[in-house]
Formats: sequence, C-alpha cells, structure tokens
Amino acid sequence: MTTAFVIDNETVLCRYTAKGWRPVQVSVLAINSDIVKKDQAAESANELYQVGRVELLASLAASNWETNGSLALDTSPEPIDGDDVPATIAITYDYAQTHGIAIPNLTKDSHKSTVLQTPLARTEEINFITYRQLITQLPVALSTQLSQAIQLLRWQADTQFCSRCSASVTVAKFGERAMVCPVCRLRQYPRVQPCVITAITRPNPQTGEMQILLAHHHRYGRPSTQLQYGLIAGFVEVGESLEHAVMREVLEEVGIRLTDIHYVSSQPWPFPSNLMLGFRASYTSGEIVIQEDELSHADFFDISNLPKIPFKGSIAYDLIAQIAHEQGIIL
Ligand SMILES: [Zn+2]
Repeated sequence: MTTAFVIDNETVLCRYTAKGWRPVQVSVLAINSDIVKKDQAAESANELYQVGRVELLASLAASNWETNGSLALDTSPEPIDGDDVPATIAITYDYAQTHGIAIPNLTKDSHKSTVLQTPLARTEEINFITYRQLITQLPVALSTQLSQAIQLLRWQADTQFCSRCSASVTVAKFGERAMVCPVCRLRQYPRVQPCVITAITRPNPQTGEMQILLAHHHRYGRPSTQLQYGLIAGFVEVGESLEHAVMREVLEEVGIRLTDIHYVSSQPWPFPSNLMLGFRASYTSGEIVIQEDELSHADFFDISNLPKIPFKGSIAYDLIAQIAHEQGIIL
C-alpha cells in the first residue's frame, strides 16, 4: 500500500484538525515498481501508466520537509507531527471513484458543490478545499507538494495526444516524466511558465524612510473594504533573460527605471503552472506612469505605513516582509 493525496481540479481533500485544514491521505494499492526496470520496454511502462494518478517528487517530500522553503525569515524548522507526513502519490477524485478507493466521511455529492468559502465551516469534517485557501495555513513543504500534485494531474489530463500530429501519446520509458508520440517522436514535458515578481525600494525623498513600490491591479476588483496592493509581476517572454523581464515589466507597468536587480527566491504557483521568481531592485529614475489597462494605482509606500498586501504564504508577502524585517518592522 501507498498513501495518496486526493485532488479535484484546484481543490484538495482535507480534514479539519486542531491546526486547521490538513490534506487527507488515503490508502492506495501500490503499483509494483519492480516491474519498471530501466531496461524495460516502453510497453511495460505504459501498462503501469494511469491517468489520474501521479507520483510526487520524493525530494519535495522528504529533504525540504524540515526547512522553511520560503525566504527563511524564521529560520526555525516548521513543526512536524504525524498528520503532516507527506504522501508519495496524488490521485484525482475521479480516479478514486473508478478504482473503488475509500474516502472516509465524504458525502456522495459534497465534492462538487461545497467547496468552502471563508469563513471556513468547521462543522464540515472532510471536504475539498481550494489550494488558495490552504497555502495560507500549511507548512511550506506540504503546500509545495500539493502544488506539484495539482500541476502534474492537470498536465497529465491535458497531455493525452501529440500537439504536432495528434496521435495518442505514450509515457516515456526509464521513469522520465514525459509523454512521447509513437508516430513523430515529439516529447512533451510538464510545462513551467517563468514569471518575475519584483519588490522595488527607494528611500522616501522627504524622510529617508525605506519605501516599497506597490500597485493595485484591476484584477483585484473594487471591494468595499481596503484596496489590496501587490508587487509588479509578469511573464517572461521567449528569448528574454529574467533581469530583462524585470526591467521590461516595470517599465511597461509603471514607467520607472531600476538598478541593482537581484534574485531572491522562487515559488511554484499552480495557476496554471507558473514559477514565480522573486527579485528585488532599487529605483533609479522616472515618474510613475501606470499602464491603465492593468493597474488603477501605483505608488511608493513607507514600510511603516503599508496598505493591504498579499496574503502570508505568497512570495509577494515574503519579499515585502523581508524588506520590512531589514528595517526592523515585523508585519
Ligand atoms: Zn506526433
């Protein structure tokens, strides 16, 4: 037997515990991995390949488990206990249904209709919870593993035919995570889309206090409560370096120029399959001119007087918190 997370699109089967929502792990019959030897033909690998079931990276589960994978503002290891031992595979809810895998206490129709909205209903013992909600409350290593599970299952569902000649693809042999076209030999790998996100600082021209550039995006909506601000972010274009992408995005969105661009940290973000690459940079010149189809407002804010910023657990929060921390301010 092996243990599995259960995923339904961007939601994860969870149980409500004293620590909040934690992913449920169900027991699944192991596929006999002895059959998959390195010298086996691709046909054997294909016999073992099942849509709706993916193996998670062992290195994500184990070696990162006891360290804080974020910016390590708090360098103490995250608490671990029995409930948080990582699973080795992930399956879809449909796979569980098809293969008769028992899911305790989940009522028959609850998974489609009752994805919980905040505030979470604690009376529901087991339910599918959105990844966006979970990331704010899970240990980093666990949320990273779930992020991988969501992305791999989606990739698997979306990669059943060759994108060049439309033949049905088969799984690569030798345990490589790729799908191969038996006709034209095109190999398709899980995609990662690099996306740069940048915290730009300058001293307040009047007071000298450190300031950070924050922007309000149209996509955040116009809530009646406090407006949420975030950092400048965007996808890396084909042929660009990461540093160039940082400069281009910032110039496009707010019209200012930067210096001292340096990489800080990264975060996988499964919507749909982004790798957020966190940078810091210093303002050099230019007046803020916002790109109006993306932003409604952007400005430098004193670190001691920030507006509403992205949630804890996001790389944007970590970058902002790191700068605040350097100024002796705990967010
Ligand atoms: Zn093909």
